[in-house]
Amino acid sequence: MLELSPKEPEELIARIKSCQQHDEMCKRLRENKSQLASKELREENKILYRGSPLLVPNDKELKHAILEKFHDHPTSGHVGIKKTSELISRYFVWDKMSEEIEDYIKGCQRCQKTKAIQLKPGGLLFPHSIPQYPWEVISMDFITHLPKS
Ligand SMILES: [Zn+2]
Repeated sequence: MLELSPKEPEELIARIKSCQQHDEMCKRLRENKSQLASKELREENKILYRGSPLLVPNDKELKHAILEKFHDHPTSGHVGIKKTSELISRYFVWDKMSEEIEDYIKGCQRCQKTKAIQLKPGGLLFPHSIPQYPWEVISMDFITHLPKS
């Protein structure tokens, strides 16, 4: 199983922490004490968590950086949707996370160019032998069972 070096998520955690301070959704969550008291949401060292993963604010650039780190990074190796989701959810959580991971990977150019097609092979061709002179072989295609007009 792929593991990121512990230093790498720390960079992102610092970014998320500062982003959480300005994010409207995080501000609302902090003000709502009953939600903070619930098991789902907790605050530790001024960082909001949902369960054990960190709550990522709705910031496109930040989420892109996470996806890049967990999918495009040389140590991540462009793994599929399921594995990328599994890796990201160890550290982070946000709304519509699985849909966004799926969209990101489906749009990944590297994956589209290099991943093998998972279809059954088409089979071999059966070409006709090459004629020696013109009109040696004549063939016709009949179109039958046409509907009556
Ligand atoms: Zn990819």
